[in-house]
Amino acid sequence: MHTMVVTGGAGFIGANFVRLALEETDARIVVVDKLTYAGRMENLEGVASNPRFLFRHADIADGDAIRQLYDELEPLQVLNFAAETHVDRSIDDPSTFLRTNIRGAFELLQGARSFLGRQSEDFRRQFRFLHVSTDEVFGSLGDTGRFTETTPYAPNSPYAASKAAADHLVRAYHRTYGLPTLITNASNNYGPFQLPEKLIPLMILRALEGQDLPIYGDGSNVRDWIYVADHCTGLLRVLQEGVPGESYNLGADCERTNLEIVEAICTILEEERPARDNEALRTRSLSSYRDLRKFVQDRPGHDQRYAIDATRVRQELGWKPTNDFESGLRQTVRWFLDNQAWADAAKADGATERIGLSVAGP
Ligand code: NAD
Repeated sequence: MHTMVVTGGAGFIGANFVRLALEETDARIVVVDKLTYAGRMENLEGVASNPRFLFRHADIADGDAIRQLYDELEPLQVLNFAAETHVDRSIDDPSTFLRTNIRGAFELLQGARSFLGRQSEDFRRQFRFLHVSTDEVFGSLGDTGRFTETTPYAPNSPYAASKAAADHLVRAYHRTYGLPTLITNASNNYGPFQLPEKLIPLMILRALEGQDLPIYGDGSNVRDWIYVADHCTGLLRVLQEGVPGESYNLGADCERTNLEIVEAICTILEEERPARDNEALRTRSLSSYRDLRKFVQDRPGHDQRYAIDATRVRQELGWKPTNDFESGLRQTVRWFLDNQAWADAAKADGATERIGLSVAGP
């Protein structure tokens, strides 16, 4: 049985991926996670008892800890999900983003380089380091065009810049040291276990509580959305079939303005939990979730549009998403309705208030 290390596996996408990997592979899965505000052991409930699952509490930016983990675990596959991920937080304080996203990626790469140096040629040939990245590294689009794997990097937020730096390091470790790396650049994810500081869960939970639904600027910013389960099947496909040294875009051809997202959530909530039966709205004398929409000050440097062209992974690796936006969003709304205790605990981290406006700096 080989070992797959999943850094950041207690976070949103990682926790979804771990479930898929336990089902679809026979690998031993080891989650390495620092358990920041974004990492929750509850996300791994039901997984932790699997005999093929292990957890290690560690910081990926701690080089000694990472070197020891390579020696102890002897992974054949490493997937790096661990990151600071919230753009608004990166605007207020980029420093943790640089530490985890850049230094952390460096320590994982450096650890892999030194560990592989002690392995057989056969092991080295089979080894894979998959770095999970974002379409935000490509910057912002106008009304037309889509990001391909050859689009030049032009990150605009400290978060995007830190992810871009890590992507460059991954590329360099392939070119310079021959490390068998893979990079994926995915569009915006949504689904179970996403923290309510991100747009979709934030809107679902605020609407249910009868709170205003804050829409940045005029709501016209476009994001390209992928249901997290589809992102995870794409990652597994790239891990198993991708060509070392290459990068792959993962997306589901689903561009929506932020305003459209909020409206789609309101429509589904009206069907799943009608506003007229919701005490929180009744006390505000509101009869519809749409009445909660509120336009607020825009995010500094807010990218206007992202759109992913995933032709390459479809054509070369035969992957495609299986959830359309309407069904993925409905599954997500239902998951949050069914997992109120999880949502309450996640909200207690204070991640639902407006941040990311401190342009003047500390
Ligand atoms: P998340 O914020 O939900 O989870 C991040 C996880 O990383 C948490 O478990 C956290 O505890 C862990 N972590 C943070 N710092 C760490 C450190 N120093 N050492 C070890 N663990 C640490 O993030 P997510 O939304 O699941 O994103 C996962 C990855 O996917 C990230 O690399 C992100 O850039 C990328 N990505 C996310 C999206 C998206 O829409 N969420 C889209 C494309 C790519």
